[in-house]
Amino acid sequence: MPRIKKELQEVKKKKRKKMTSVQVIKGMKDILPPEQLFWDYVIENSRKLCKDFGFGRIETPIVEQTELFQRGVGDNTDIVEKEMFTFETQGKDRISLRPEGTAGLVRAYIENGMSKWSQPVKLYYEGPMFRYEKPQAGRYRQFHQFGFEIFGDEGSAIDAQVIYLAWKIFQKLGIKDINIQINSIGCAECRSSYKKLLQDYYEMKINKLCIDCKRRLDSNPLRLLDCKEEKCMQVATSAPQIIDHLCVICHDHFRSVLEFLDEVEITYVLNSRLVRGLDYYSKTVFEVWENNSEGGQSSLGGGGRYDGLVEMLGGEETPAVGFSFGIERVVESLLKKEIQLNYNVKKEVFLIQLGDKARKKILRLFDKLVDSNITVGESLGRGSIKSQLRMANKFNSKLALIIGQKEALDNTVIIRDMESGMQEVIVMDSVIEEVKKRLKG
Ligand SMILES: [Zn+2]
Ligand SMILES: [Zn+2]
Repeated sequence: MPRIKKELQEVKKKKRKKMTSVQVIKGMKDILPPEQLFWDYVIENSRKLCKDFGFGRIETPIVEQTELFQRGVGDNTDIVEKEMFTFETQGKDRISLRPEGTAGLVRAYIENGMSKWSQPVKLYYEGPMFRYEKPQAGRYRQFHQFGFEIFGDEGSAIDAQVIYLAWKIFQKLGIKDINIQINSIGCAECRSSYKKLLQDYYEMKINKLCIDCKRRLDSNPLRLLDCKEEKCMQVATSAPQIIDHLCVICHDHFRSVLEFLDEVEITYVLNSRLVRGLDYYSKTVFEVWENNSEGGQSSLGGGGRYDGLVEMLGGEETPAVGFSFGIERVVESLLKKEIQLNYNVKKEVFLIQLGDKARKKILRLFDKLVDSNITVGESLGRGSIKSQLRMANKFNSKLALIIGQKEALDNTVIIRDMESGMQEVIVMDSVIEEVKKRLKG
């Protein structure tokens, strides 16, 4: 027997040696409790405002048929061309992790017959999105978005309401130094003639363009306007502007959106090079930009109108407009501002124990206090009374309940006023009553 035992131990040792720690996937990250405070703050405030504005929450799966994104987001976009996590299932279906939220919402709108609901249908969502991007500071392959969409109303007031809600969310969160970058990219009609103009313009400058732009010139000329390459930005400055080539309907719609924004005193900037990366937009497109302390600006989120998308994905013709923001970026902005969150980590009562018997009593007592709606912290470790009292102070507890070996046997508890240090022994059965009395006092 002893020999076998020894051998087993050696096998175990060998196994232990071989194990290396498994690491998080490149471009992904854990979100730990201190940061979660900020996540809760962002999500809870955003949810509250969405509900106030009459939005209902929707959750769609994080995987969809790859085809949904090819048709919905667009085959020629960077997202679909290069950045999707796509798999083949055992049943030979091609599925992708969602790279954004809107396409899935549109699918759900069609599939669940929401066009029969009373219009407009207002939905909000939140959750992880996935893009296989080059990992860089502040960009993750799994990131999180909060967004909202309004289906079934083509009026400019709806565009303005979406922008207003986006604005309001950031104000509420304490991100106040922002502006709305806004543009109209027209409808299918006025945009197609504008695209030709743009292609003609860029053809003449083709030698000054980056490789990506040369390639995109035929398929998606609008994207050339927001290329971040220095030389392409140069060329873009004197490109024809779509604002000058909108049809009457698109022109009036855009003017009306801006009038609404003036009315509610939202700071906006007309940005003729804002086209957004996705194929599905029409008419109004916008982004929320924050002025950062280094004097630059960064985009927190964006959205726009997409009147053709529902039909393109097989539904009835349905106008729609939406907005989404990256939760990571917003949390990062809050952390930079060193915004203090008033999170209530105060525990009215703290439970302290010494010894195994006492520990068992503590579990019961904890439960009773929680059931009586008293906030309670506890230490179940083997630390000294002194170190446990320090924890009680950290939680700003008014009272500590101490059970030592003697108290565990006697079925009593020491109740200590944390401020005065006064202690008194009471019987277990009257603890809740006594605690309530003292908390009131
Ligand atoms: Zn138009
Ligand atoms: Zn370029």
